[in-house]
Amino acid sequence: MRGNRDSIAHLSEAGLGEGAEPSLGTRFLVFPQPPFVAGYEKPEVVWLAPSAGRILAGPADNRMYVADPVEPKRPYALPVLPPYRGSLRPPAEPGPDGHFDHIAPSSPAFLSTHSYACARRVLDICEGYIGRTIKWFFEPGLSRLEIVPHIRNWDNAQSGFGFLELGESEADKATSCFALNFDSVAHEMGHLILLSELGLLEGNGKGTDFFAYHEAIADFISLLGLLHFDTAVDRILRRTSGNLLINNELDRFAELSDEKQIRSFNNSLRTRDVGDEVHDRSRPFAAGLFDCLVEVYQSLLFERGLSDLNPRRFSNLRQQMAPALIETNLRGSKDDYELKHFASKAALQEARDIVGECVVRSWLGLDPDYLTFETAAEAFLEAAERGRARPYVGQFEDCMQWREIFW
Ligand SMILES: [Zn+2]
Repeated sequence: MRGNRDSIAHLSEAGLGEGAEPSLGTRFLVFPQPPFVAGYEKPEVVWLAPSAGRILAGPADNRMYVADPVEPKRPYALPVLPPYRGSLRPPAEPGPDGHFDHIAPSSPAFLSTHSYACARRVLDICEGYIGRTIKWFFEPGLSRLEIVPHIRNWDNAQSGFGFLELGESEADKATSCFALNFDSVAHEMGHLILLSELGLLEGNGKGTDFFAYHEAIADFISLLGLLHFDTAVDRILRRTSGNLLINNELDRFAELSDEKQIRSFNNSLRTRDVGDEVHDRSRPFAAGLFDCLVEVYQSLLFERGLSDLNPRRFSNLRQQMAPALIETNLRGSKDDYELKHFASKAALQEARDIVGECVVRSWLGLDPDYLTFETAAEAFLEAAERGRARPYVGQFEDCMQWREIFW
């Protein structure tokens, strides 16, 4: 059976059932972390930007659609590109109210609604930061992104010209299903959004940090996405008593970061510490962005009387705070944290958006063929200077210098 990819011209809010709320968005269930991660066993209700009735069976909208092949499908590789031309399973149908949150994790259609919702959520967030629609880099050749929610016996996820594909291994379905992993979908969406906004290489990328920068940004977009879930922000803050100066190197704090996105940024890697492999090379810059986020968060806490720690007294708060001081801070704040939780949460969400905006707005000033981490950090500081991150530019510069992005 074919999906609804050709019926997009008929999008309309007409025909919605009783109780529809056309202008509020559309509800889906999303796991902020894979459901086998403790504390994330239940999905969260998420509202996507297109209003109820504008997301059709598939799910499908004017930017992306799910294609769930009946036959075993091989991952796309040139010259084979979307749209998928084989038979498709029946599309996931919205309820009479136009929403999709009636489709539970136990339903066969859940991988379709979940992977679509994760992808669409990341696009909504990034378009919000940029302040306009992001045009796909594969337009006009293809007008929409095709999401393939599961490819059997393929332990991977990939994105490319018009597609996002998610594998699962037969041996360990529960933990290997990429469609249930917001982090993986968001990472791939990060690549697609960056390709669309920054553009493609004209040369082969030699002598640039184009590929490593892509990995850093894809990871950081995944972190920004995670920090848009109440479940995640509540858990991270309550577990750490609002103190994000946790550091993986201190083993006793390792349990404070269940979320993969947080774990991967919690390091003290400088440029000199990593090799040339793109994922490895991406880590100091990505962690530098996380340092910046924590700087803004701690600054807001201090300015609002929620913390006695003034980040501006340190040239890089996360890296310079002595372990003993972190521990004292953690112990001291446990008891009275609950009274500060909502104010701390507001500060973290504001810090997330301040740094998120700088990242996406820095792309305007970058040329893929001349992209180095140094030019990327400069563009990031310039974007900060132009927006509401201006008071933190000095702190951002210190963070990037500590990571040896600037020499
Ligand atoms: Zn990647």
